[in-house]
Amino acid sequence: MASARKREEWSELALGVLGEAGHRAGGARQAVVQLLAGEDCCLSAQEIAEGIRSGGDRVGTASVYRALDLLHRTGLVQRVELGDGGARYEALVPGGDHHHHVICDRCGRITPFEDPALERAIERLAGRLRHRVSGHDVVVRGLCPGCARTPRSRS
Ligand SMILES: [Zn+2]
Ligand SMILES: [Zn+2]
Repeated sequence: MASARKREEWSELALGVLGEAGHRAGGARQAVVQLLAGEDCCLSAQEIAEGIRSGGDRVGTASVYRALDLLHRTGLVQRVELGDGGARYEALVPGGDHHHHVICDRCGRITPFEDPALERAIERLAGRLRHRVSGHDVVVRGLCPGCARTPRSRS
């Protein structure tokens, strides 16, 4: 988990990027950044919008999408692609934790995992590729323990 200090630095960077792009102070900008800075894993844009509204702030889902899209394009937010075409977002804190996700194909549950051996293997691979590697995404798919126990109902 990223330290409070790293999260603080990330928040400042993210607010700066949104500010330069003309997102007005307050509004969705502040709320999206604040919410993501406090999360340990990814959320959908819908969940982010709902989280903000449950905190009492009024924010439109469209402005949440706009803010997320910009933060993703500037490398401040990681976009986790789900199999169904949806996506989730989480803060990409520089020097913070680095984890990947295992996704259940049936119920959509997303579980983060860390694996130092995997990271080292990817670093070795990067050294071998004739490509300047800037990052990587790993998504492992399958059935979560709950869904694996329950036979799929025939419909
Ligand atoms: Zn995550
Ligand atoms: Zn499941």
